[in-house]
Amino acid sequence: MESILKRYFGYDSFRPFQREIIENIMHGHSSLVLMPTGGGKSLCYQLPALMMKGTAIVISPLISLMRDQVRQLRSNGVQAVALNSSEDDLDMMILQRECQDGHVKLIFLSPERLMSELPRFLRTINISLIAVDEAHCISQWGHDFRPEYSQLGILREKFPNVPIVALTATADKVTRYDILNQLNIPDAEVFIGSFDRPNLSLDVRRGMDAYEKRMAILHFLSSHQDEPGIIYCLSKKNTESVAAFLQAHHVDAVAYHAGLSLLERNRAQEDFLNDKVQVVCATIAFGMGINKGNVRFVIHYNLPKSIENYYQEIGRAGRDGSPADTLLFYNVADIIQLTRFAQMSGQSEINMERLSRMREYAEANVCRRRILLNYFGQETANNCHNCDICQHPPHLFDGTKFVQMALSAIVRANQMISMHTCIDILCGIPSEEVGKYQYFKLKTFGVGRDVPIKDWKDYMLQMLQRGFVEVMYDQHNHLRITELGRQVLYGERTAMLAVIRREVQSPKGKRKPATQKELLPGLWNFSKQGLEEDKELFEVLRKLRLRIAQQKGEPPFVIMSDKVLHQLATYKPTNMQAFGNVNGIGEFKCATYGPIFLPVIIQHISESGA
Ligand code: ADP
Ligand code: ZN
Repeated sequence: MESILKRYFGYDSFRPFQREIIENIMHGHSSLVLMPTGGGKSLCYQLPALMMKGTAIVISPLISLMRDQVRQLRSNGVQAVALNSSEDDLDMMILQRECQDGHVKLIFLSPERLMSELPRFLRTINISLIAVDEAHCISQWGHDFRPEYSQLGILREKFPNVPIVALTATADKVTRYDILNQLNIPDAEVFIGSFDRPNLSLDVRRGMDAYEKRMAILHFLSSHQDEPGIIYCLSKKNTESVAAFLQAHHVDAVAYHAGLSLLERNRAQEDFLNDKVQVVCATIAFGMGINKGNVRFVIHYNLPKSIENYYQEIGRAGRDGSPADTLLFYNVADIIQLTRFAQMSGQSEINMERLSRMREYAEANVCRRRILLNYFGQETANNCHNCDICQHPPHLFDGTKFVQMALSAIVRANQMISMHTCIDILCGIPSEEVGKYQYFKLKTFGVGRDVPIKDWKDYMLQMLQRGFVEVMYDQHNHLRITELGRQVLYGERTAMLAVIRREVQSPKGKRKPATQKELLPGLWNFSKQGLEEDKELFEVLRKLRLRIAQQKGEPPFVIMSDKVLHQLATYKPTNMQAFGNVNGIGEFKCATYGPIFLPVIIQHISESGA
């Protein structure tokens, strides 16, 4: 198994559970694999497919996903085929022959195609295993239910002796049982991989308005020049306005949402895959079909509706294992809008619960990774040192005076004002609402004008989080004072608030040292000290990769991942053997690209005198 892993994928060791899963499949047993996006699920069926006789069938919901997988397999020298709808009888006959010869080891197809090929093509070949990718699509409880997936229950009956492996990144229990039931594999072994993705930094910013968020994004991007990333927005309008804003600031950005034509969407997706555009500003419609390893950051312009969604979306960053950064913005407008969505949805109770867990995460003042892992049932006692809370533990101060000012304004306005108007009153702003209801006559009008408006926004949000006020979502979002708030107002309890931190961290340089260890392949006998990446060489190699990619018409990360390039720029191999030893370079890649990369590395070393 190790030699196949090295030969085809270039890796020296398995990630947790991969070996167990592969062995389970090879023994002919069915499995359910739960791992986060980027966790390494594909290898769990690709490697057994290579080792077993016959051809593996992989069911996948999207053509684009299949195409990426096939591209990556082929770039490693593995024969795989994705069926679309264009094959004629002759094509299928040739494919049949290639399967029988043991040439084609994996076939990717959609559930619809599977059903239509069951009585035909699939009867003529020897099937080694069946993998159901994105298996949560089978469940109505999941977030991407696909009716076509419901028919897959028939597989067990048609192929009673073929191991079935279902794979998904959605971990909740309801979905899990639903998958096992619907696929008729109740006895399948369930493997739950670690949901930890230590290479992703986690950062949350609260209470910023649109302008502040945009400036913060520009600042963030200044430490991510030319690095690909995704910005998720709640609305189509925002994807377009954020993209336009970035373009105006010379960032290569496009919008992506369901309102665009198929052509425009495909184009945006392809350009992103091929590193032709740096940033995609997208609604959640974007991503499921994206199998791009070198996404270096994911920003949430708005709060996601659940932790599952959030985790899946940030999971699209750093799939190559190199450090990647995530940044989440949330403010009251998000909460109001998401609450409305959840209440209007068919399952308002579940969705409200999901939203409140998401809010708890965003509002937390303990290590964020601990909250996430806890959510996925993998408690840990350690802080991660790679989230904003770990790096900047919140400082509290006695904010009773501020809280009392705000609460008093709310009381005097008969609890008939929104957060916005409350701030107008505190800061003495003669807004329309203030004029209409004569709030300027209140005793509290202007009492808080020494505090900047944006600080008030933050304090008000904290008051909401700490339960001093609540928003009456069904009554024009008016604020109401809670029992806890009443106690603060009457001086029966003090109210601690967190000191506001505004700068968006530039994550570069603060990265977790542990990831460096990961980069160090076992076979090098350099000492770790003094071995630094040659940034110039990295850029040279990156350009080389882009040229090769353009010639081949492949996305650059398929040629070689960023992680591999970083290693090459660090270890600077000068012969084929050293090149092949790099983690992530298998035999096929070594033979194909060694002769192209080595001369460039050697030349760089001699020119730079390194
Ligand atoms: P998933 O399908 O779970 O989202 P992938 O299968 O795409 O994740 O794997 C994510 C990345 O991890 C890929 O670049 C893959 O090549 C890499 N990977 C998988 N297994 C290993 C391993 N044992 N060692 C190193 N990298 C691995
Ligand atoms: Zn942490």
